[in-house]
Amino acid sequence: MLLTMKVKLYPDEYQHKALLETMERFNEACNYVSKIAWSTHTFGKVGIQKIVYYDVRDKYHLSAQMVVRAVGKVAESYRIDKTCLHEFRKQGAIVYDQRILTFKATDEISILTLEGRERIKIKYGEYRQLDMERVRGQADLIYHNNTFYLMVVVDVPDAKPIDPEGVIGVDRGIVNIATTSDGEVFSGKKCTEVRQRYSALKARLQSVGTLSAKKHLRKISGRERRFKKDTNHCIAKAIVQTAKDTNRAIAIEDLTGIRTNSTVNKVVRTAISKWAFDELRNYLKYKATLAGIQVFEIDPKNTSRECSVCGHIDRKNRKSQAEFCCVECGHQENADVNASKNILVRGICQLPHSPLAC
Ligand SMILES: [Zn+2]
Repeated sequence: MLLTMKVKLYPDEYQHKALLETMERFNEACNYVSKIAWSTHTFGKVGIQKIVYYDVRDKYHLSAQMVVRAVGKVAESYRIDKTCLHEFRKQGAIVYDQRILTFKATDEISILTLEGRERIKIKYGEYRQLDMERVRGQADLIYHNNTFYLMVVVDVPDAKPIDPEGVIGVDRGIVNIATTSDGEVFSGKKCTEVRQRYSALKARLQSVGTLSAKKHLRKISGRERRFKKDTNHCIAKAIVQTAKDTNRAIAIEDLTGIRTNSTVNKVVRTAISKWAFDELRNYLKYKATLAGIQVFEIDPKNTSRECSVCGHIDRKNRKSQAEFCCVECGHQENADVNASKNILVRGICQLPHSPLAC
């Protein structure tokens, strides 16, 4: 599995200055390349390179490979949007590849700067033990709060899959971000509060419309996104840990089609996309894969309307968002827990030696 790993750099004062100058020069070059790409309507990598290569080398005194990377960054950016001139931040990322960046030892890199190659100490976060031969392709050098980091793509071996003895059903939602068939509820209350707080603030800032308001807006959006991300990360971690401890697989609903589902009204749809169900799914899948745990994606049809005890399906079973009460057998339960139990049963059907006839 490919993972992005954040590696912190420990340059000395001279190296720090060299890296920063390189970064700024690189982005100046990107802006120059971008203007030419825009004015000549040449957006492909090869096309742009033909026009600007010698010019950029001359003007910015960048190495051949750095010019190629700058052109690559510009072309990549226009690939997504060709409707306006793109500008790059003074301290935006530099894309490094194996020709201009090498991992020397477990704690050192050799990286190209305007002053030539520099050997700089590094430290990994949680993947310290990783074999650097697993590093794949490119790495972005980023600068944040006066610190340099490399975002490195690493090929991590999947854990040996465990043979599951059962399944945990996980229902994802807006009021409750996740509810497991064990009855564990991860509430979305805190997230809703944060979202509402930021929504109101964002609306105010949007109506102001000044440059500083826009800047503030960007900052808030970033904060909100990080909060959500962190929440999803923690929930996924907890669920995968439980699955691992109890030797079970995880079942979730396959919600690929949910955004176009016409029965979901607009308010819910916005909330769903805002809340990013996908993010939790992706975290669950990748943490599970690393732990050797299978994730089954099951058909979501009627999971919230079906009685987990007698199997009766009825719209009326769902009294409210929170309350489930079966009109057939009278079974009462928290609606999300009931749904997660249905997900559990459908997940059991997917076990290799399923005890259920599905
Ligand atoms: Zn029932």
